[in-house]
Amino acid sequence: MSERERIAEHFKSDVPNHKITTQREDGTLRYLRFAAPKTSMTVIELVTWPHNLVVAGSHGSFHFAHYAADREDMFDAFRGQVSPGHWARMLVNGRDSVAEYNRSLLEAHIREYTRDAIREGWAPRGVGKAVTEEVLQNDYLDDKGSATRVLGEFEYGVKERRECSCGATDDDAARFEAGVMWAIRHERENGEKHAVRTRRLEGFDFGDAWFDWNLHSLDYHYVWQCHAIVWAVGLYDAAHQVVAA
Ligand SMILES: [Zn+2]
Repeated sequence: MSERERIAEHFKSDVPNHKITTQREDGTLRYLRFAAPKTSMTVIELVTWPHNLVVAGSHGSFHFAHYAADREDMFDAFRGQVSPGHWARMLVNGRDSVAEYNRSLLEAHIREYTRDAIREGWAPRGVGKAVTEEVLQNDYLDDKGSATRVLGEFEYGVKERRECSCGATDDDAARFEAGVMWAIRHERENGEKHAVRTRRLEGFDFGDAWFDWNLHSLDYHYVWQCHAIVWAVGLYDAAHQVVAA
């Protein structure tokens, strides 16, 4: 079951027999309240005015606005399928206000990237263990800022070779620091015409792959309230059909 489906299930069990109460209504100016008698702590409140809808209550408040000709009544925007990601564009506080850094999304990306590197044959032996111990089990992954720093700094089994335009190489200087020293010394001792370049022979790192990874999921309470709006509008519609009939 996906996170989305889980929230949908939670919502259904949270509102077994809630009743709609219209506190005020004047065209598209509305204040509706949905609450179960005594047994439930769950309260949902909806306020609408032209091109605006606020959902509030026990799961937090979110303000949507859409200044399009066909959105004078914002109930029209919330019928049918529940689409929290799509609707986040109407949030007055912006999409980012409901996006949360999600460590498990990051871990999934790291696992996939590492698996691909092993399968494609460019990752040095032992990389899986190193990634697990130094990255996946790292407490710094709890925070997005420090997590990206961990990824940026991690490398495993990196072997580089320094080559000069004259043909000399640092093959004897196996380690990184020694290689850098070799390059500096070689250029200084031999003069301007010698230019040393560094070539990576092998090694694993995350490069800038993580720039493209989606590390955010939608806030739980926001998604819950999206379900609440659709459910409430459905109840409202049903009640009005009964009145009309
Ligand atoms: Zn040279």
